[in-house]
Amino acid sequence: MEPLKTVKPRHTQLFINNKWVDSTSGKTFEDIDPATFEKIADIQEGDKEDVNRAVAAAKEAFKLGSAWRKSDASARGRMIHEIANLMEKDIQFLASLECRDVGKPFQTAVGDIKAAVAELRYFAGWADKICGSTIPVDGDFFTYTRLEPVGVCAAILPWNFPLALLTWKVGAALAAGCTMIIKPAEQTPLTALHFASLCETAGLPPGVINIIPGYGPTTGAALAHHMDVDKISFTGSTQVGRLIMKAAADSNLKKVTLELGGKSPNIIFADADLQHAVEQSHQGLFFNMGQNCCAASRTYVQEEIYDKFVAMSTERAQQKTVGDPFDPKNESGPQIDEEQYSKILEMIESGKQEGARLMTGGGKMDGKGYFIQPTVFADVTDSMRIAREEIFGPVQQIIKFKTIEEAIVRANNTAYGLAAGIFTTDINKALTMANSVRAGTVWVNTYNAVHAQAPFGGYKESGIGREHGEEGVKHYCEIKTVTIKVPSKNS
Ligand code: NAD
Repeated sequence: MEPLKTVKPRHTQLFINNKWVDSTSGKTFEDIDPATFEKIADIQEGDKEDVNRAVAAAKEAFKLGSAWRKSDASARGRMIHEIANLMEKDIQFLASLECRDVGKPFQTAVGDIKAAVAELRYFAGWADKICGSTIPVDGDFFTYTRLEPVGVCAAILPWNFPLALLTWKVGAALAAGCTMIIKPAEQTPLTALHFASLCETAGLPPGVINIIPGYGPTTGAALAHHMDVDKISFTGSTQVGRLIMKAAADSNLKKVTLELGGKSPNIIFADADLQHAVEQSHQGLFFNMGQNCCAASRTYVQEEIYDKFVAMSTERAQQKTVGDPFDPKNESGPQIDEEQYSKILEMIESGKQEGARLMTGGGKMDGKGYFIQPTVFADVTDSMRIAREEIFGPVQQIIKFKTIEEAIVRANNTAYGLAAGIFTTDINKALTMANSVRAGTVWVNTYNAVHAQAPFGGYKESGIGREHGEEGVKHYCEIKTVTIKVPSKNS
């Protein structure tokens, strides 16, 4: 598939109640192409007033007796399937838009859209399979549970996988029968807006899906504090995740799920298939320009193979092609914006100053765009900032270890717990590590294998709750217990 290099967004307004509207304030913000610094579009900027309008619409759509509440669960499933079909039809347009807005290589963007389609299809299947149970309580009673939709939900999204992460939340919310207000990241609002138009075409009633582009401290905070939002699902930094929880506590104790940052250990034992481990570790870190919450950003390598692993990883990073994301020969594009770009360059400087051995890269690339050289540091120690703080950029830290016992302690010595990788051909080591690492996902002899069917989320400061799988759907449900007095029960 060829990218549409001159792709332009079809929608730049807010989407409320199945209508395209301007923001109440009349304000707009610029959406910038990170590879060229060109303006892609002026986007209507949502604010508190717009959030109020969208929440009112979502509340009305969730009212008892509304078209959405009265629809068959199977009909909800068919609508979700239809959105997936429409996305699949528009894949070239959506992937081109994502490529331009995020700066991710076109083929990676195609992969994102395919994953988003698969995500919706998975959740579509759940719509008519969300069941309660009957419970044999003591006494003359008949007791059953209903799994009811939580209600009006808000989703706040990051910029690294804009449409894919949107479908993680929307798929589960719609399957459960909720209504939703979505705030895409201010850097990447375009595919979310196109998604809204597909929801309308697929037949979702007005108010079920609303999209309000805008900034975090205004639009995002208004959603988090809103008294009529029953649940908020947030993906982004741990720092903002704390604010979301505080806002929920200070307002109506809305339910909260958080998918936050990480500093994931990736542990390579001496018996691993070396070539495979080098490539997977490289992809585990450099995929999506390192802008990945589960990036393998602490690569622990056993001492027997350490030097060889460092040499091979350095060579692999040196081969990496970085440039125009629309050019199929490039494996990597730019970072998302000035803030991330400066932060990553500052982290690289800290690595140099704290004595890590710079093997390759180590700075920005010449010319326009937020491009950074693929960077590899060896001889990193656990106390260095580059081994402790999330970098969210193309910077690999390679750290030496000796024993499995030591690897477990050092892997867990972090405030995060999102993911971990283990490379070994010894099943006992694999299982010992998989059981011992405190992380929501553990990959053995692979990395970044994320699927709609399997729960995903963080231990510790990497988050609360799970997305994907049955657990993901249940986070959009309330459990109601109904107990009825009966004259006399029989077993
Ligand atoms: P961020 O937290 O700055 O922004 C994420 C979203 O929150 C944006 O939409 C932003 O506008 C909004 N926001 C910012 N301030 C807010 C506030 N005060 N109130 C409400 N909303 C607010 O994160 P980012 O820089 O866009 O994304 C990178 C971070 O996201 C990384 O830490 C990464 O690890 C994490 N992330 C986690 C996952 C996961 O699934 N665990 C996935 C992707 C990214």
